[in-house]
Amino acid sequence: MVINPTRAAGLNRLHDFLPQAGIAYARRRNEDDVSHVSGLSTWLMHRLLREAEVIAPVRKQHGDAAEKFVSEIFWRTYFKGYLERRPSIWVDYRAEVRQGRDRLATESGLRARWEAACKGETGLDCYDHWAQQLVSTGYLHNHARMWTASIWIFTLGLPWALGADFFLRHLMDGDPASNTLSWRWVGGLHTRGKHYLARAENIRRYTGGRFDPVGLMNEDADPLDGPPVPEVSPVPLGDAWSQGRVGLILHQDDLSPGLPEPEGIATFHIPDRRSPWTTGRHARAFTDGALADARDRFGTNTHLANEDAVAEWAGAFDALAAPYAPQGPAREALDALQVRLGRPIARIMDPWDTRAWHYTTAGYFKVKKAIPRLLDG
Ligand SMILES: Cc1cc2nc3c(=O)[nH]c(=O)nc-3n(C[C@H](O)[C@H](O)[C@H](O)COP(=O)(O)OP(=O)(O)OC[C@H]3O[C@@H](n4cnc5c(N)ncnc54)[C@H](O)[C@@H]3O)c2cc1C
Repeated sequence: MVINPTRAAGLNRLHDFLPQAGIAYARRRNEDDVSHVSGLSTWLMHRLLREAEVIAPVRKQHGDAAEKFVSEIFWRTYFKGYLERRPSIWVDYRAEVRQGRDRLATESGLRARWEAACKGETGLDCYDHWAQQLVSTGYLHNHARMWTASIWIFTLGLPWALGADFFLRHLMDGDPASNTLSWRWVGGLHTRGKHYLARAENIRRYTGGRFDPVGLMNEDADPLDGPPVPEVSPVPLGDAWSQGRVGLILHQDDLSPGLPEPEGIATFHIPDRRSPWTTGRHARAFTDGALADARDRFGTNTHLANEDAVAEWAGAFDALAAPYAPQGPAREALDALQVRLGRPIARIMDPWDTRAWHYTTAGYFKVKKAIPRLLDG
């Protein structure tokens, strides 16, 4: 699947996928074959495409048969809202990755197993195939992500946070919320006590017999144990668009915001903050390309490569604004930038998020139930 970093390429992919987004998607999406899924996540993650504009034509073409696809899109919204309302999960995840890195420095056995897992050299064929596919393409099918994460945690016995870091570094659609919470879900930390155990029979079936790891995986492991899920906090309100000359800072989390016309507009390069290790080349290349595409579409040449460049540029404006960045590297970078500038950067929420995040108080079911109201109400 070719995933070019432009909005036009995303719209083309949506157009090509439309005929399959109904009953065919519902029936075949679990097969480990990218031709049965949309491949839209990377455009959605960077908001080169927005959730609503993907859902609308799918519903128009397929009606009720679009339910499964629409529901999957809302999983993204659910996870974003869930993490946003429990920010300590992201903070704790970052801390666990740092602790994992410290352990790798002193525990040579763990380091050797981690390196083998990251290179796809564990000797377990199916796992090695997916780990290498992740690094060499920047994409994995959802079912392969589930199996890979489960094998990482329960068969290879590696820390879950280092696995989430491995994914976040390499996935072009690397999303702090979907990734962290999916790994926690696989481990049994999201729905406490309920984990996802990859089974040889399931892998054989959904890979069409390409892999048959019978007897090679731990299919009896217990869920991980961890602290209780934190209390839910209110939905953030975001800030209002200011009067006067506004400078709009576009960043990797939202590259097609529908905001009022600013006085000036620029893209901001978020430093490589995904992980303590270097971000994979496909993930880096997509984000860089997507920022360039945004400059083309918004008719600006201004790319702010670092905080000093922003400080110089920002002097021309009465106020600064940016699309709301949920928990993750972009948010961390904007917060740090705000401190460096000594002036606020208004974070403008998308009403899609404000409305849907209202329902992210517990499991996905609440969001699912609200979908008709969110789409038509
Ligand atoms: C361990 C693990 C890690 C993951 N990490 C990420 C990540 O970093 N970024 C990311 O975008 N998704 C992540 N996912 C969710 C899911 O695997 C991908 O969104 C999906 O595979 C993307 O491929 P697609 O666009 O072809 O999906 P499709 O099947 O075509 O689905 C359509 C859209 O629905 C959304 N979606 C589908 N499934 C999920 C899901 N389970 N959770 C959240 N949204 C979903 C995506 O926006 C996707 O583009 C992860 C899942 C697991 C199990």
